[in-house]
Amino acid sequence: MLLNGQKALITGGSRGIGREIALQFLKNGASVYYIDLAPGDSLEEYQRIAAENGGTAVYKEGNVADEQTITAVVEEILEQSGGIDVLVNNAGITRDGLVFRMTAQDWNDVLTINLTSAFYISKAISRSMIKRRSGSIINVASIVGVIGNAGQTNYSASKAGLIGFTKSLAREVAGRNVRVNAVAPGFINTKMTEKLNDEQRDVLRAQIPMNRIGDPEEVAKVILFLASDLASYVTGQVIHITGGMGM
Ligand code: NAP
Repeated sequence: MLLNGQKALITGGSRGIGREIALQFLKNGASVYYIDLAPGDSLEEYQRIAAENGGTAVYKEGNVADEQTITAVVEEILEQSGGIDVLVNNAGITRDGLVFRMTAQDWNDVLTINLTSAFYISKAISRSMIKRRSGSIINVASIVGVIGNAGQTNYSASKAGLIGFTKSLAREVAGRNVRVNAVAPGFINTKMTEKLNDEQRDVLRAQIPMNRIGDPEEVAKVILFLASDLASYVTGQVIHITGGMGM
């Protein structure tokens, strides 16, 4: 029960990595508020696990890219929860293509959803954490933000930006006992990577020293560690979860 009685906010929490984060947090005694475009089919399961472990699970609809909407949703969650202890900026998208073919729309959508949204949400939440002198923010970046990837200039720029954002915010709030870290997953089995065909998977596996694609649960467990008091002296860090890719 690493998060007993704590309240967490997760963006993009209805499926993929966000869903595993919600499950790990709920199993560890947290109450989970999650924001997504649609509830998906996870809410009933979340509520059952929450009831078994002394927490609650609450879904809020919201597009993280829309400043006005998301700020209102976050304020509502802050009021309803009485304060958020853990924020995970997880919502993200890809719009891949070589740069000379990429539209400005694809560039802007990725930058806004993956990076600017973390600014909108962290702004409101960190203010409240500073007042409470406690909190943990975890940003879900990507190994592609560290080593780059052909066909993903928009995505890797957004994730590299998120890493810079993490380190700067960590320096701003560390003195108030608020920790800010990032994780940089490699290739993880979710809807985001399901488009890869067998040949592409083989090429990828060859770049991974552990020779396999990761599971969302393996990302969520590291995020659980960063959220909890086990990481009480860890801030401004980027933890790679890649099976050894990009050491
Ligand atoms: P996913 O399965 O596609 O899930 C992403 C979630 O974010 C979905 O629930 C999606 O909602 C939500 N979302 C997307 N745009 C949103 C918006 N504008 N407002 C609110 N919610 C929105 O992807 P994933 O693989 O779990 O990725 C989660 C995070 O991990 C992302 O930041 C991704 O970049 C990062 N990551 C993933 C991998 C990987 O290999 N999978 C590797 C490194 C980093 P809908 O279901 O309604 O679309």
